[in-house]
Amino acid sequence: MGCLPDPTCPIFLFVCIGLSVHQLAGPVGGQGSDEQRITVVMNYGGQLHGRLISEDESVLVMDIDGLPCAIAYDQLEARSAFTTMRHLMLTRRGSADALTAEDHFNLGSLLLGRNRHDRAKREFQLARRKDASWRAKCDAALATFRRDRHGVALTDHVEPSESTPADSRVKPPSFVGSAIDDERREKIIEGYKRVGEQVRRKVGADLVLVETEHFLIWTDWARAEHDQLAMWCESMYAKLSGMFDVPSDRHVFPGKCLVFCLRSQARFLKAAKILDNYNAVNALGYTSTDPNGHTHVVVFRQGGSPVGRDAFASTLVHEGVHAFVHLYRGQGRLPTWVNEGLANVVAEAVLEDRCPNAETAAAASSAFVAGNLPLATIMVDDGMLDPRVYPLAHSLVAFLMDRNPEAFSGLINDIKATMSMEQALERRYGWSIDQFDRAWRTWVVGGMTDSNGQAKRE
Ligand SMILES: [Zn+2]
Repeated sequence: MGCLPDPTCPIFLFVCIGLSVHQLAGPVGGQGSDEQRITVVMNYGGQLHGRLISEDESVLVMDIDGLPCAIAYDQLEARSAFTTMRHLMLTRRGSADALTAEDHFNLGSLLLGRNRHDRAKREFQLARRKDASWRAKCDAALATFRRDRHGVALTDHVEPSESTPADSRVKPPSFVGSAIDDERREKIIEGYKRVGEQVRRKVGADLVLVETEHFLIWTDWARAEHDQLAMWCESMYAKLSGMFDVPSDRHVFPGKCLVFCLRSQARFLKAAKILDNYNAVNALGYTSTDPNGHTHVVVFRQGGSPVGRDAFASTLVHEGVHAFVHLYRGQGRLPTWVNEGLANVVAEAVLEDRCPNAETAAAASSAFVAGNLPLATIMVDDGMLDPRVYPLAHSLVAFLMDRNPEAFSGLINDIKATMSMEQALERRYGWSIDQFDRAWRTWVVGGMTDSNGQAKRE
């Protein structure tokens, strides 16, 4: 069976649209006493406009068409992030003179994350002028920026777990890649390399192959950054393998997962056209799989700033989760909210403080529960999910994992074995959908704490 990827035949596309990440604010707003409307520009260029529901130093929650949307500053276009944050500070304080040392420090940190080094220094100067005790923090932020400019590891590598085969009672399909012998696997990998070579010839001669245990990463990033790309991909694989007890000698991918990490949107659009005949405008990245289990991920970076790099990493891990989960124990489809929520949860777990997903999930779920809004539109599984509710999907999945990680893994296995979500939820958690809904709201209201009452990150 000639199952090398057919570049003209995308069967399933999981697209990560920029909306899931940021929107922030432009200068509009502030008129009216309790009603503040703002406009933000997201990192892919789209604009969002709505009433501000709440804000903290990293996340805004806006009411857009009646839906609370949580947006991290890190998801906004650089200028919009700065003007929004400053605008909200001015609204809060009343005037520029009333801004505090901490306000200026936060503005400086935001600018630094976007490589606006000179502007950041000005804000740090203002912070020190307001309060000399901020000098040490400002100096430390600048020192960290200079060090990180040359690239440091984002997170420790997570070792895969060596564990028992997953639940066998419902006989979930085995791992797709494991049905393929070594000789066949080598042939598939060779085929993937030829595909990568074709893309290299058309997209850019400076694309090189970085091969890891589970991935073939084609990239035009600087050589010094290759280790980081490899680490993000393998950490994602290790995290999921541990979560789902995939034995280390089993293969999820038929060969390896083909990944394209590109440095510009122009190259991204070109690669998407060549590989999938897909017009990827408005996407930050996507995953494509075909019925034979061949999969590839294409992602691009928006600039070389720390924030741009982090946004790239979040998208890369998010899309990589789709590739893994799609093939894990057969190609049975998960409900979209589970798929998107899990992708965001794993990105958070791999990237930790470099990823805004936990913060947006907490803010969105709190606003959603406070507004007593129904989950029905999110749980309806028609294969589409508005990216604005990805943070809510994250919260729902984080809750299931928090309540019982083994049950969550079993629930995924059950769905892969063709059970419905309702049946699997009842079997693994003893809940109907309504009971799940109520338990989740209680968890959100309680501050998303685990059974010991400890505050948990999601
Ligand atoms: Zn996605």
